[in-house]
Order: sequence, then structure tokens, then C-alpha cells
Amino acid sequence: MHQSVQHGAGSSDLQAVASGAGSSDLQAVASGAGRFAPSPSGDLHVGNLRTAMLAWLFARSTGRRFLLRVEDLDRVRAGAETRQLDDLAALGLDWDGPIARQSDRLALYDAAIDDLTAAGRTYECFCTRREIQQAASAPHGPDGHYPGTCRDLSAAEIAAKHDSGRPPAIRLRAEIAEFTIEDALHGRYTGAIDDVVLRRGDGIAAYNLAVVVDDAEQRIDQVVRGDDLLSSAPRQAYLASLLSLAAPSYAHVPLALNADGKRLAKRDGAVTLADQRALGRTADEVRGILAASLGLAEIGDKPGLDELLQGFDPVALPRTAWTFADH
Ligand SMILES: [Zn+2]
Repeated sequence: MHQSVQHGAGSSDLQAVASGAGSSDLQAVASGAGRFAPSPSGDLHVGNLRTAMLAWLFARSTGRRFLLRVEDLDRVRAGAETRQLDDLAALGLDWDGPIARQSDRLALYDAAIDDLTAAGRTYECFCTRREIQQAASAPHGPDGHYPGTCRDLSAAEIAAKHDSGRPPAIRLRAEIAEFTIEDALHGRYTGAIDDVVLRRGDGIAAYNLAVVVDDAEQRIDQVVRGDDLLSSAPRQAYLASLLSLAAPSYAHVPLALNADGKRLAKRDGAVTLADQRALGRTADEVRGILAASLGLAEIGDKPGLDELLQGFDPVALPRTAWTFADH
């Protein structure tokens, strides 16, 4: 059932993932990798840069390779990828091997969905966004979770839906209600599982499916990302298990917030490296601000990445969000 995914990586590569990935393993793993996976929808802000720096520190401090993956299945803005890579390099971050782009990897996603379909683990969903919102607000099930409207349609109902012309999304037929992962900062975390979309109605692989396939195929065994994605980790780890892929170890790190306590956004002032440079700050100074925000340096210091690497201890990282307002 998993043959087509293994085709892309080579079955021996996937064996390496299975044996190398402990669920909370921060020890050196020669064959493993960490990653940063931005969407090229605009410039990175300091919160994104801080997460990228942490992902680099987690990977390098454990002897892992560090990979970049551009998640360009949608929301692509012309020129954004180049500026994002330039900003990461300006902070001193380096990465291994060629940059992966999801738009080059559609066959891998389709193969994984085909495997799940062959195993009877998918179904077509014809719901509109509005129908899902209305159904999901009913007083059962977690907020926003798909209530399974199309899960048990009859063949006649499915044929009629097809005749109506709406191209269906493909959903996972989940068989459990929750799944537990280990996170380096959050410990054991249990999240609700629903019939997540695997392929959208427009034919594009859904984020949750693509991430799982990519991480396994790229032999990424350590995922460091913003804690807004913590609640997605259980369904991604569950998906990995259904595809017989090893789930990575996770570290979901605190986000950057604006002065109002909301998630930092482009409209919140001088939040990009280009904005900071326009204020007269160098990339070294911005790296120093990020390091200080993580308790890795004194305010005003400009430590190099090698220096930060030497004293890096994930256990000592702050567990609360960083407010970027006084800069
Ligand atoms: Zn539906």
C-alpha cells in the first residue's frame, strides 16, 4: 500500500527514518534532518525569522542536516521566495542540499492519496465551505471540525453530486477520535482527529498531507515550527502512521505577538529585515535581538550563530510568546 511513496525515497531511505526517529529524541542523529518550510506569500517577519533560527539551532545542535522547503502550493507572491532566502542567509543560516519546492512534488502527494484510497481510507466530500462552517458549529465535536457529512453517502447520492458538477475534495476516513504526540517543549500532547482534507476540490494536495509526505520523503525527523501548528501535529502524526511513515520529533516554539497580543503580522510596523535595515539596524543586530528574545544573549549583544549554537539548550527556551512592540 505504501509502495508509491517509497518509490520516491527508495525503501532503504524510509527504513532510515523508521530507525532514526525517536518521538522525543534530541540526540544526534546522523541520518536525520531538521527543516524550515516557509510559504512564499510575502517577506518573512521577525517572528518567522526567529522560528527559522530556532529550527536551525535545534538541527545543528543535534548533528542533523538542515533543509529548506518552499511550500508553494498556493499563496505564492512573485519574488517572495528569493527575498526570504536572502533574509535567512543574511542572518547567517545555512542549509544543506537543494531547496525543495512542493510544486515539484505533486506526484508524491497523489501517490500517497492513492495508497490511502486503495486501503479504503478516503472518501469524496462535496460540501461547500459554508456548509462545513454551518455543520461544524453544531453542538457536537471540536470547533471547526468536519462533522462527516459526506462520509456515508450512498452510491446514488455520490453519482447525483458528481452530476451537479462540483469537483469533490478527498477526505481521510479517520478511525480514531484523538492521537497523542510528544513535543520537546509541550510534553505529551493529545489532539482531536477528524476527517481531514487530503486533496482540495481544486485538485491541489492539502497542507496536512503534503507536509507528512514531504517530511518522510526528505528524511526529516525533527520538526521545529510555531506553536500555532501544535494542534495540527496529532493529525499529521496519525496520517504518517496510516502511510507507515515515521512521525518526526516535534518542538512547537512560541510565536511572536504584536503590542495588542495578536499574532505578529506584516502590518505591525517595522517587522521585516528590510524594515529593520531601513531603521539602521544590521542583520547582525537583528539576530542579536532575536537571540535576546530567546534568552540566548544579553540585550545589545550581537552573537554569531556559532556562539549561539554552543550554549543552545532547548530546555531553557522561553515557553511564552514574544511581544515584538518596542523595536
Ligand atoms: Zn462533505
